[in-house]
Amino acid sequence: MTRVAVCSCGQLAVTLSGEPREVTVCHCLQCQKSTGSVFGVYAFWPSSACRATAGEASCWRRFSDSGHWVESYFCPTCGSTVYWRTERASDEIGIGVGSFADPGFPAPTAAVWDSCRHPWVALPAAWPRHPADATSAPTGRNFRQVDVHPFA
Ligand SMILES: [Zn+2]
Ligand SMILES: [Zn+2]
Repeated sequence: MTRVAVCSCGQLAVTLSGEPREVTVCHCLQCQKSTGSVFGVYAFWPSSACRATAGEASCWRRFSDSGHWVESYFCPTCGSTVYWRTERASDEIGIGVGSFADPGFPAPTAAVWDSCRHPWVALPAAWPRHPADATSAPTGRNFRQVDVHPFA
């Protein structure tokens, strides 16, 4: 199956093939800030599943408390973030599930950073729930801008 993630204005698009490796909710404060919502929902594919990109992207790189970078790629026209890369999983691409505009998209199966969850957000009890994300630790409390550049 091929899916296309598209920004709000339509100029930035990423085409992916196959099913996502994982779909995850993240409650962390950085995801709250970068999405403007109270949690982020991301689908992860191996980078090799990325078939095409179209349009221009700008990149925001920040560092987690553990010192590893996280990059978000967003449309310079409308500001929608469409995809993410992380130093710890640099062979993967993370896509914001909302960019597919598809209510039939596969549901998440886990949530991380439960310690930052807004208490009214009730997710299915069967999902594994991690108080923090031990693998990437993006607390968002000490981020800084180190690089902004267009993505060719
Ligand atoms: Zn756009
Ligand atoms: Zn997060």
